[in-house]
Amino acid sequence: MAELHWIKTSAELIGRFTSALDDSEHNLNSLAMAIGVTRGALHKFRNGDVKNVQAWIMEECARELGVSKGWLIWGTGEKDGDSGGLAICPRLGCEFGDETGHTKFCPEHGDGLIRECPECGKSLLAPGQNFCGFCGSPLKTEKD
Ligand SMILES: [Zn+2]
Ligand SMILES: [Zn+2]
Repeated sequence: MAELHWIKTSAELIGRFTSALDDSEHNLNSLAMAIGVTRGALHKFRNGDVKNVQAWIMEECARELGVSKGWLIWGTGEKDGDSGGLAICPRLGCEFGDETGHTKFCPEHGDGLIRECPECGKSLLAPGQNFCGFCGSPLKTEKD
């Protein structure tokens, strides 16, 4: 059985959460849906109405919001420190790749970078990769 870990809520924690939420494409509702909690639960947390929040909820929030767990939960390290490996441009023929986690768009094409296979969610291996190495789905599309 999984242990229940609780994190004490604080103004700082809520502040980091709000800032990560603002930077993301999520709102409270879509985030709640993505991590499988009720919208009310996240609203209460964001409004500072709960004293503690379960650790897994914060971990899932960090994953969905693309920020590092340590930063979100404890305020340690870089905000997007482990936002996850290689990001590549989804345009066929483009070999742009970024591993810093700081780049969100291809500087050449302006396309939003992808960080994982849209089909299976596995991480990417190389900037020029056209197909997912795990499930074989195409990663890049031709655009004019
Ligand atoms: Zn590109
Ligand atoms: Zn895949």
